[in-house]
Amino acid sequence: MSSPSDLRQGLSTRCVHAGDDRDPQGAIHTPLYNHSTFAFANTEDLLDVVEGRRAGSLYTRYGLNPTIQSVERKLADLEGAPAALAFSSGMAAEAATFLAHAHAGDHIVCIGDVYGGTFELLGVNLPQVGIDTTFLLVSEVDRLPDVLTDRTRIVFFETPTNPQLELIDIAAAAEAAHCAGALAVVDGTFATPVNQNPLEFGADLVIHSTTKYLGGHSDLTGGAVLGPAPLLEPIALWRKNLGQMMAPEVAFLLARSIRSLVVRVRAQNETATAVASFLAAHPRVAKVNYPGLATGEQAEIVARQMRGPGGMLSFVVDEDAASTAAVVDRLRLFSIAASLGGVESLATQPITTTHHGLTPEERGRRGIVDGMVRLSVGLEDADDLIADLEQALT
Ligand code: PLP
Repeated sequence: MSSPSDLRQGLSTRCVHAGDDRDPQGAIHTPLYNHSTFAFANTEDLLDVVEGRRAGSLYTRYGLNPTIQSVERKLADLEGAPAALAFSSGMAAEAATFLAHAHAGDHIVCIGDVYGGTFELLGVNLPQVGIDTTFLLVSEVDRLPDVLTDRTRIVFFETPTNPQLELIDIAAAAEAAHCAGALAVVDGTFATPVNQNPLEFGADLVIHSTTKYLGGHSDLTGGAVLGPAPLLEPIALWRKNLGQMMAPEVAFLLARSIRSLVVRVRAQNETATAVASFLAAHPRVAKVNYPGLATGEQAEIVARQMRGPGGMLSFVVDEDAASTAAVVDRLRLFSIAASLGGVESLATQPITTTHHGLTPEERGRRGIVDGMVRLSVGLEDADDLIADLEQALT
């Protein structure tokens, strides 16, 4: 765990420098300490670290590894959080957070669409240990105060949501959670810290799948939880004993990627805006879901809490699953793949990947229709991506 560096510096500067240590050899960034264990001069020296009298490296699964701690300082800094914990995946970060802050007999409220794996964790795994979840649609968010009980420990949501890209008012949801004595936990994966900082709006903890934009190159799997140290301490205990630590190689690669986060995400904001506008004007497209095209109350939420619309969008071809798959199959520049946030553009039908595990009824209730295609816009030229979509839709 770590503390934020100088928040007066700009985000690009902090992405490059925050959390980095110069080693005695003068390596320009924190080196990769790939080691599982660290040696001590004597027993007293070891006990000082084990018993917390001094900071030091001890054992990598505990998180006491300089490469991991360095990327945690960087991650905390980006969200303006006092501290951060790195994990082996986004799901590991979510699972440890839920298990640390809700116990048998407790209750979680989940608002809006969430990644299919999260839906399964909340709806299938956690009930097996006595934790149940009430799922609210974004259109039902007004019911939040009614579903909160004295057993509710966590109000969890993604904003923007996956795959409908709906927006949830972080400040309003956090206030309702706090009135009931619950924590507001936000998955900020889609927005990234470039476009949104949920802690500024009253969220207690932010979770990222660092596999996505923070990693940014589709070559690592990781996760993080960010927030105040007292809320992270119980999560760290689950992380340690479930063995969910991020590997040092991954931490090194993640820090490498975060150094270019701002330029990548700003370019993706711009290109996705152009792609969304093209799709919105296309006769075969029935609907485009994109924060940059939001209207009414949803647009007000974007204006209040986001600094950019993001690189994710979904659109609906008003046709069945097979004809929509044919459109996806004709794409040449977009690869057909799950995941998101990399330098290369990806396309997927949520019914075939991210939300395949949901029943057709649950997908129907959530508006995840057979004709929906989700795009993760990468760093290619906007004109080339639009030409690819044009030929696939024609
Ligand atoms: N949160 C969101 C919004 C996601 O899209 C995903 C994965 O797609 C996850 C969490 C889980 O992350 P990971 O695959 O790193 O476990």
